[in-house]
Amino acid sequence: MIPYGRQDITESDIQAVVDVLQSEFLTQGPTVERFERRVANYCGASNALALNSSTSSLHLACLALDVGPGDIVWTSPITFVASSNCALYCGAEIDFVDIDPITYNICCDKLAEKLHVAKLKGTLPKVVIPVHLTGQSCDMEKISKLGLQYGFRIIEDASHAIGGHYNGQRVGSCKYSDICVFSFHPVKIITTGEGGMILTNSDELAVKMKHLRSHGITRDPVYMTNKDPCPWYYEQIALGFNYRMTDIQAAIGLSQLNRLDEYVSIRNQLSKRYDLLLADLPVITPFQSQNCYSSRHLYVIRLRLDVIAKSRREVFDYLREQGVGVIIHYIPIPSQPYYKDMGFSEKSYPNSLSYYNEAISLPLFPKMTQQQQDKVVSLLKEILLQ
Ligand SMILES: *Cc1c(COP(=O)(O)O)cnc(C)c1O
Repeated sequence: MIPYGRQDITESDIQAVVDVLQSEFLTQGPTVERFERRVANYCGASNALALNSSTSSLHLACLALDVGPGDIVWTSPITFVASSNCALYCGAEIDFVDIDPITYNICCDKLAEKLHVAKLKGTLPKVVIPVHLTGQSCDMEKISKLGLQYGFRIIEDASHAIGGHYNGQRVGSCKYSDICVFSFHPVKIITTGEGGMILTNSDELAVKMKHLRSHGITRDPVYMTNKDPCPWYYEQIALGFNYRMTDIQAAIGLSQLNRLDEYVSIRNQLSKRYDLLLADLPVITPFQSQNCYSSRHLYVIRLRLDVIAKSRREVFDYLREQGVGVIIHYIPIPSQPYYKDMGFSEKSYPNSLSYYNEAISLPLFPKMTQQQQDKVVSLLKEILLQ
C-alpha cells in the first residue's frame, strides 16, 4: 500500500534518541528547551513551548485566553475534531464558520457576516481558531483586522503548516494572532512521535501556559505567594495538567528540524508534479494563494462528480483495492454524532458539505517516489475515464 502520509526517520534521528537515553534527563530537560528555542527562532516568535500534542496545545491556548463557561469559540467545520474540542474542554460553546470554496480555509466573508449578526445578537466569539488546512495559511491579515474590530482573540491551528509562509513571514510568527500551535504527529510535516508546540509573542500568555503544562506548579518566587521560599518549595497556583514533552521526543524533533525546509520543498515539488499530471482529468487540483507558501501537508483533489460517471465511493474503493492509501480530510465536525447531539448539522455549512462529498487526499510524503506518484495518477486515470 502506498500510504497517504509517512514519517521519514533517519540514522541521525535514531542517534539523537540514543544520546538522550544515555544522558541524565529523559523528560523536560535541556533538549526540550533547545527544541523550543530553535522553533521559536525559526518562526520568528518570541516564545515557544513544547507539549505532548497539538490537542493539548489547543487546550492550553484556550485556557490562557480565559476561554470558559459562557464564552463562544468559532472555527472551521473542515478540520480535525481537536480544533473544536479544545473549546468544549474549557466549558465554552463552539460554533462554525463555513469554508471558502476555493481555498477550503475558513471563509473571511462568511466570518465577517456572521460577526455582524453576532454583534447584534450579543453572541460574539471570544476566540476564533483559523485552521491552515493542508498547510496553506488562512487570510490572517483579514482575520486579525476583524479581531480588532469585534474584539476576539486568535489561535492559529497550524497543525498542518510548520515550514509554510504567509505574506513573507513564517507561519508561527504570530504576527496576526495571539497564539499558534503545531502538531508533530507522525503524518504531519515533522514528527516527535506524538507532540505539539505553542508559539506566542506574549510573555504573559507563555508563562501562563508553561504553568498549566505542568500541573499549575511553579518554583519561581516571582509567581509565588511565599516570597521567601525554602529550597524544596514549590506552589500550585493554577489547575494544570501533565502535558509535557519528553527530551526523547524533543531530540527527534530537533533532528527532524534540520530537514524541515527540504521536506516542505519536496512536498511542493511533488504537489506541482501532481498538478501537471492531473491537469486533463475531471478533478479540481489544490488552489495556491499568491501570498502563501504552503507546507503541503496534504494533496486534496475534488472530483468533478458532475462529469464523472463514478461516485466518490467507487473511486475511493478502487484506489484502495489497487494499493493506494487514499483518505478523506475531513468529515465536517458538525456531522459527528457528538456534535449533532448538541444541535449542529452539516447542512448549515453548504460549502463544507459539497467539499466533503467530492474530496479525496492523495498520497504525499517526503520519500514518495515518482514511480509511486505515477502509479497513483494512472490508477486515477483508469477509474475516472473508464
Ligand atoms: C493533527 C491535528 C490536530 C491534533 O494534533 P495532535 O498532535 O495529534 O494532537 C489538531 N488540528 C489539526 C488541524 C490536525 O490536523
